[in-house]
Amino acid sequence: MEADKEDQLRIEVVNGAKAIFTKGLVEAGEGNVSIRIPKKDELFITPSFNQYTTLVKNEIVHMKFDGTPLSSGKLPSTEYRLHVAIYEARPKANCVIHTHSPFATMLSVVQKKIPVIMEEQIVFIGGSVDIAEFGKAHTEEIGEKALEVMGMKNGVLLANHGVLVCARSMGHVVKLAELIEKLARIYWGALQIGEPILISEEDCQRFKKHFDSLFATYVKKRKR
Ligand SMILES: [Zn+2]
Repeated sequence: MEADKEDQLRIEVVNGAKAIFTKGLVEAGEGNVSIRIPKKDELFITPSFNQYTTLVKNEIVHMKFDGTPLSSGKLPSTEYRLHVAIYEARPKANCVIHTHSPFATMLSVVQKKIPVIMEEQIVFIGGSVDIAEFGKAHTEEIGEKALEVMGMKNGVLLANHGVLVCARSMGHVVKLAELIEKLARIYWGALQIGEPILISEEDCQRFKKHFDSLFATYVKKRKR
């Protein structure tokens, strides 16, 4: 890969990481951001114990999907397997973010999913944000479980852990990480004051079209 193309991808990861930190979705040392390297089984990912405020492009780790490091220096995030599981299952997903953002994580701790409460949720995420049952954080198993629960959607809550989102671009995936935290906060607040009214199935279908054409990353089954 050309050096400037490589630099560009590293910078995208740095920018995504700084964006989620600025938005309060992660704290120092937690969460991770990655980008797929086009046409290869490789990715760039934030390092283990990432320090968001001082992060620079040379600290971004280059690695193969199988875990082989391709850069020297920092070690990759130990949660890289979550990212790889998504890239392997979804060719359209080019970026992945994992956070422990507070409201979403609160819901994950009581294992309460976010039902469809707002239209933008359908357009960007594809529907409800469900709970993937607890798996060991640093194993492949957690990635498989997350994918299973995501179904056709772009995001999931990992039980007692946090948020996992994927998208076609860094801009989109940052937006999704932010949106899930906002939905969690709104849903939590709504539960304090009454019974949340959910979006009807009919309305969901209307917005699904936009999701499918603009934001979906799932693999469509071929028609026979
Ligand atoms: Zn985590």
